[in-house]
Amino acid sequence: MKVASTHNELASILRRIDHRGYKAYQDIRGQYRFPGFDLYVDHVQADPFAPPSRFRVRIPQSVAGFPAWSLATPTRRVALSDFLTRRFSALAAALSRGRGQGQGQGRGQGQDQGQGQGHDQAQGWERGRGQAAAAGTGKSGRISMARPGQEILARNSVLVDANVVEARFTVGLPAAGRTILGSAAEDLICGAVPRLAREALVFASLSATEAASLERHIKTAEDADALRAALPGLGIVAFVANGAILPRRSGVDERPLDRGNVVPFASPPSLEVEVTLPNRGAVRGMGIPRGVTLIVGGGYHGKSTLLRAIERGVYNHIPGDGRELVVTSPLAVKIRAEDGRAVTEDDISFFITNLPFGADTRHFSTENASGSTSQAANIVEAIEAGAKVLLVDEDTSATNFMIRDRRMQALVAKDREPITPFIDRVRSLAEDGISTVLVLGGSGDYLDVADTVIMMDEYRPVDVTARAREVAARFPTGRRFEGGDERLRVARRVPVSLGFARVGDRRSTKTKARGTDAIVLGHEEIDLRNVEQVVDPGQTRFIADALRYLEARLLDGKATIPELIERLEREVAAHGMDVVAPYVHGDYCLARPIEIAAALNRLRTIEVRAAR
Ligand code: ADP
Ligand code: MG
Repeated sequence: MKVASTHNELASILRRIDHRGYKAYQDIRGQYRFPGFDLYVDHVQADPFAPPSRFRVRIPQSVAGFPAWSLATPTRRVALSDFLTRRFSALAAALSRGRGQGQGQGRGQGQDQGQGQGHDQAQGWERGRGQAAAAGTGKSGRISMARPGQEILARNSVLVDANVVEARFTVGLPAAGRTILGSAAEDLICGAVPRLAREALVFASLSATEAASLERHIKTAEDADALRAALPGLGIVAFVANGAILPRRSGVDERPLDRGNVVPFASPPSLEVEVTLPNRGAVRGMGIPRGVTLIVGGGYHGKSTLLRAIERGVYNHIPGDGRELVVTSPLAVKIRAEDGRAVTEDDISFFITNLPFGADTRHFSTENASGSTSQAANIVEAIEAGAKVLLVDEDTSATNFMIRDRRMQALVAKDREPITPFIDRVRSLAEDGISTVLVLGGSGDYLDVADTVIMMDEYRPVDVTARAREVAARFPTGRRFEGGDERLRVARRVPVSLGFARVGDRRSTKTKARGTDAIVLGHEEIDLRNVEQVVDPGQTRFIADALRYLEARLLDGKATIPELIERLEREVAAHGMDVVAPYVHGDYCLARPIEIAAALNRLRTIEVRAAR
């Protein structure tokens, strides 16, 4: 990095390299003083089609002027950063749009559809990025920043503290073919960027309405955090506020359903609890008690929708989402069958023993798990990573893992069936402090093991616990309990290698994220499509680099998987997500240790040994 120059010097470089070959853009790398802020050009793209160049602006709080209350706690800083990210990326998109139209020479790549630009409407930035009609070749003239979805997540796109606001974004440096468009670049970097920085990142630029919506953003996140912190004291694992809107527009659109008859959530009186929140005051809603809870009801009555809202309740949501006060224990994990996944040295013997040909299920490895073994591994690994609440939907479970009814018990003797079904383990887990929330339409056998039974009836929850007890007494299933008094054991596994740094220099292993679906590490790919609580592509980016960092810096051949993840968590808490970044960028958002562990456990190249 060169020593700081002034913006005038930057402008004169751009004039000097006008009409030269694209490589000459490398000359602008460095740090520049602008009135009111510093601009950093951290990386300059090699050609117009390469990933765009990486820029930062740093504005001292003496200029940015965010009020002390908005910076006072970690929750507020996260919400402020999220708000500024939305604002910056929306304004940048509008700006790029304006430029494209004004100059009329864009390649028309990713034509703007004129929708989804509002900051509360963005659906993850990868799609949002391609939206402006660009001036010049490739991504010329486009300024972009990560575009958050419905969650308020910790991000590194905008860093805020008492001293400074730092925004990280990318810029497509203008060119015609491979020829530098110097004056367009000067307009962009010395004109548009400073304007954007001032409009998006300076408190005084907010209108009264915008300042009010910032305040609402922060207070909403703060209330959700307070609510989550209150769950243990109430003996509940999740809270769903009265009035919450749970259904989403579609399977690919996480915004609230706004067409047709949308039924707002209303708690059954017997499960209603009241919580007093710092900003909103008293709120009432349904508390899901610890223990074993069934969500039953007819098909299409809203069971899975409720469970999905609970899954997402580990995150805070933006104002207007409908799930602002749907809040779940941070240690809740969605469990599903995931046949085809790799498993390495898990102890799944709590659920599965005596596989054909004597495969040892206390150290179970496979390249291609079945429905039942994958679901068993998912539970054991989640608990190893600290899970205290399992969220299970029969729609995505392996039937033979969930249930073995009386007739099957009669037909197939216990010693011929490797699986001890979940129904015979769920109480033992509850006694060990691990709650289960289970969506069920098909198997009434579970009524025997439930503490609470909630029936969804035309999207309205009804507490049917007492009726379920009566039904269970009236119609005994006659099935035999197959669980014994065994307790869950979790293998203590020590990773020796994650395997993606085998060849060459560790630091050069390329990591890539494909949306929320996959992580690519060198030649390896981790499939995360079934890790359903990864909600933002920024989390996948973060997990990818976190795993590489974990192997390069933390792995010592002695620490177990949870110990390694805890070390990582401590480093991230102390130094921020940037600690795992190979270079400066703004594409991360925070993932829970549980999801980092989930990715690690799906690595096909991991080598582990048993802890001594
Ligand atoms: P189930 O799991 O009980 O079969 P789903 O949760 O999949 O049912 O919901 C069925 C449909 O009803 C979905 O299209 C969902 O979006 C819609 N839906 C769910 N909850 C509500 C609600 N409160 N108001 C209106 N529609 C809803
Ligand atoms: Mg369903």
